[in-house]
Amino acid sequence: MTNAQPLLVLGTHNRKKGRELVELLAPLGIEVRTLADFPQAIEVVEDGASFAENSGKKAAEQAQHLGQWVLGEDSGLVVDALDGRPGIYSARYAGEHASDEENNQLLLEELAGVSAQGRTAHYVSHIAVADPSGTIRLEATGRFDGRIAEHPAGSAGFGYDPLFVVPEYHRTVGQLGAAIKSVISHRARAYRQLLPQLAQLTRGGDWRT
Ligand code: IMP
Repeated sequence: MTNAQPLLVLGTHNRKKGRELVELLAPLGIEVRTLADFPQAIEVVEDGASFAENSGKKAAEQAQHLGQWVLGEDSGLVVDALDGRPGIYSARYAGEHASDEENNQLLLEELAGVSAQGRTAHYVSHIAVADPSGTIRLEATGRFDGRIAEHPAGSAGFGYDPLFVVPEYHRTVGQLGAAIKSVISHRARAYRQLLPQLAQLTRGGDWRT
């Protein structure tokens, strides 16, 4: 029997991130599902020491468990004046189940007194795609440079977006909105590297689910 449309599962429980990923994958013309469609999905422990290790775990462990192709993504905010924090701990910067507002508040507190020039930062996104045996088949990293504002502005996006100023636009990602973010973000940049190889892989004979 020939395969139906290739299926790729997004290994994230973060709905807003999931939505961005679904939109970025649209040009591929493959069926993309989220973990919401797989009640048996496991909660992968993010105990890697880097974005690459964590995205690899999210892809490989979930893929093996579900017997599906899985895309794992790990991302975060790296702030120069904080020696790279919150980094891989961005989601839980202000505590295990911290809200975006709590994380943003802590970031502003930690940067109190730091000048505009000293508030440089970047987002990182690392993406890994694993086949159903749990083998990583593709990987890519994207980086998005900016600066941390003194006050939040805008309500688009998620996470640190209301505080993340894009120098070229003099606006936060929260003010810029989804259309611009989908072109210039760390996730978009990682995808652009991955898409040609992903397209090739999904057309290839070994994409079986
Ligand atoms: P992850 O789901 O473990 O990869 O955590 C990613 C965390 O990094 C999010 O919860 C946000 O705090 C932060 N983050 C990653 N990408 C973005 C983004 O595009 N905008 C704002 N915050 C982001």
